[in-house]
Amino acid sequence: MITLYNSLSHKLEEFHPIDAMHVKMYVCGPTVYDSPHIGNARPAVIFDVLYRLLKYKYQNVTYVRNITDIDDKIYKTATAKNIDIKTLTHKTTEMYHADISALNVLPVDIEPRATDHIDDIIKFIEQIIANGYAYVSNDHVYFDTSKYSNYGILSNIEKRIEGARIDVSDNKRNATDFVLWKPISTEFPIGWTSPWGIGRPGWHIECSAMSRKYLGMQFDIHGGGHDLIFPHHENEIAQSYATNDKLMANYWLHNGHVMINGTKMSKSLGNFYTVRELLEEFSGEVIRLALLMTHYRKPINFTKNLLTDAETLLNRWYTAIRTDYSCGKNIDMTVLKALKSDLNTPMAIAHMSELVTQINQGKKELTSIFVNTARSLLGLLLIEPDKWFKHGDKLDVKFIEKEIIRRNIAKKNKDYATADTIRNNLKEQGILLEDTVTGTQWKHL
Ligand SMILES: [Zn+2]
Repeated sequence: MITLYNSLSHKLEEFHPIDAMHVKMYVCGPTVYDSPHIGNARPAVIFDVLYRLLKYKYQNVTYVRNITDIDDKIYKTATAKNIDIKTLTHKTTEMYHADISALNVLPVDIEPRATDHIDDIIKFIEQIIANGYAYVSNDHVYFDTSKYSNYGILSNIEKRIEGARIDVSDNKRNATDFVLWKPISTEFPIGWTSPWGIGRPGWHIECSAMSRKYLGMQFDIHGGGHDLIFPHHENEIAQSYATNDKLMANYWLHNGHVMINGTKMSKSLGNFYTVRELLEEFSGEVIRLALLMTHYRKPINFTKNLLTDAETLLNRWYTAIRTDYSCGKNIDMTVLKALKSDLNTPMAIAHMSELVTQINQGKKELTSIFVNTARSLLGLLLIEPDKWFKHGDKLDVKFIEKEIIRRNIAKKNKDYATADTIRNNLKEQGILLEDTVTGTQWKHL
């Protein structure tokens, strides 16, 4: 049995899909205007692990992740770069695909783009208006939150309103009302014909309309980053309910935010890493493992040290399978159990390391289970070990030097346990450290 923490009930719940033969999942995808950053990569990797787990357990899984390709930021960026919106969104979508696939993220089953679904969105809005949940005001269509008594069901709206900035507008009846359709303006002169004039949809309605189209009135899992709970997911719930009196999804999963070196990631302050710049320094598997070393619901403090820790761990795993990396059909049940327990990836990784210890102690029969578990459930160890180390030849030197610096810092801080661990891990990888008067030297064993 899989248990998942449901943001809707604030509880861990056993997962029971609506159709036991077919699980349906929707995750909010990126707004494509720029190079993907590590904050975009986290949900892609987290929900990829969930997707792998669901595929292992259930016969059919449909995973839909959208592309938001119409947005103020897209228009601004395209204008600044003097290119048309389509060129920008195609290019950045391709970058997103390339970057997350470098992190071993499987392609999703359906990836709808908002601009391909304007007709569906318009029909959805018409239905909301017909049911009395929306009104037209000054060429805008607004959702009337006062008509939906459960508004706040996901986010506890009273608390949120105090802290959140809610758009104030003379056109709106209530502060929490949100836009379903907006007219073209000088800041955003691109639009589609609609019963309310030329304009474009609001962001929230995209996900309600596209999830409905591909997954139906009600589906199992809706996921995204924690910052999407309010207003985005709250509004999705309200819109969908307004058309059918039903809760659109049963399980709401949210990953924690990303901190960079201890402070909140902020694109505007330049405090972020793009996936691409990290890939210049680290392999995709290292970045993926680094993201999985923290439980998905917790904030992750993303640092270069975290990446070198992940690299050390992967080197140890690859070393254990260097001479035999045959992939069996069996899965390690302890790792599976950890993942079934609200996707506890840190525990799964700890179990994987225990397996490595056993393999190193001579239990070679565990190798094929270890490799298969890593590949199919965690999306790791997909590279031939020789290639991993060969590709790492150049990086190895850099890596060893980084480890020596890390060990020196640990020794300076009298953290001898860490210093010893670093030395022993390197020894396991065939590298011997020697402390000399001129500093630490290293050589192959
Ligand atoms: Zn969404």
